[in-house]
Amino acid sequence: MKERVIFHCDANSFYASVEEAHNPDLKGKPVAVSGNPKTRTGIILTKNETAKKFGVLTGEAIWQAKSKCPNLICVPPHHKLYEEYSQQLRQIYEKYTDRVESFGIDECWLDVTETLKFFGDKQTLADQIRAEVKESLNITISVGVSFGKLFAKLGSDLKKPDATTIITRENYKQIIYPLPVNSIIGIGKRLKERFDKLGVVQLGDITLLPDSILKKKFGIIGLDLKQKLCGNDQDQVKKFDDHTPAKSVGNGTTTITDIYSRAEILSVVSALCDEISTRLRRSNFNAQGLSVTLKTADFKYFNQTLHLDFCTNSLCDLITFSMKILDSFWQYNLPVRAIRICAYNLSSAQTVQLNMFSNTQKKDSLSAGLDKVRQKYGYYSIMPASTLKNSHIDLTRVEV
Ligand SMILES: [Mg+2]
Repeated sequence: MKERVIFHCDANSFYASVEEAHNPDLKGKPVAVSGNPKTRTGIILTKNETAKKFGVLTGEAIWQAKSKCPNLICVPPHHKLYEEYSQQLRQIYEKYTDRVESFGIDECWLDVTETLKFFGDKQTLADQIRAEVKESLNITISVGVSFGKLFAKLGSDLKKPDATTIITRENYKQIIYPLPVNSIIGIGKRLKERFDKLGVVQLGDITLLPDSILKKKFGIIGLDLKQKLCGNDQDQVKKFDDHTPAKSVGNGTTTITDIYSRAEILSVVSALCDEISTRLRRSNFNAQGLSVTLKTADFKYFNQTLHLDFCTNSLCDLITFSMKILDSFWQYNLPVRAIRICAYNLSSAQTVQLNMFSNTQKKDSLSAGLDKVRQKYGYYSIMPASTLKNSHIDLTRVEV
């Protein structure tokens, strides 16, 4: 197979850079985008390069930042403006390939394997894209270039601002392996502690762990990570419109407030699965694949899928396995603003492959009972217990 060429383009200090680009008076001055500057109780959301030099940190209170940098200019966030810049960034990237996948508001992967030949070599193209962004939007990006998505993403973090980092088959061990394990997004505090216990400090250490230990401690995700770190990263850069498999039944919602805990997430997942399971039964379908997508408060998407070894449309199964997927990769430590569940690999419910380990008959009659009550008394007459007292979603917004 042809070696792929993947770019990861990450805008530097995005919010603060957009504010600077939009308001020339701010140029060269220390600027931070913050929660609520008027009451001085807000928190620094992001800062520009000048503010960084004074030691201003993301997440600290405005008063703390100002004690280090008295001339710091704090501006409130302008989300609509950031969305506009985000769109324009995408439009620039799409001139170079049709395979552009957004990650959050200011990051994109580009698969330029097929189009690179029109623009020269990797370095030339990455530099050209950087120059075009700077010229037309007056902000800067860092570009990571590699043969897989993970290394490209890690690469864009290595040199900032306005730089290109190329990670090749020849140099990846030298560049990537010494990085701390939490350089990878998704390895939060709790997962880092679990790696610490195994003596794993750097990314390279993960490649030395036997598969059996990785599987036991971290499941499929652990094995997948090791594969990627060994240079076998097959993850595709998705096109804008191929998020979900074609034949699927999905349901998602934006929560009323950001949620964190497993219990809060379970209550939303239960409501979503309840509707999916009803729709599957109504269309006489079973599913053998499940995917869970989380969108965090900073608009980043996290997605994991699971292939089940049996077919099902039971509510209990959908909830249990959606939570299994979540438990395998999510740390319940970031604010979640939207959840989507999707059941795919659909087959006719008549040709059921019996799963010896699940009590299929019992679950079927439970589901049938649920449907009967709803037919008679309405959809909301009976709900899974875990969705009760659910203040995070407006249940009536879930399409049925
Ligand atoms: Mg960025």
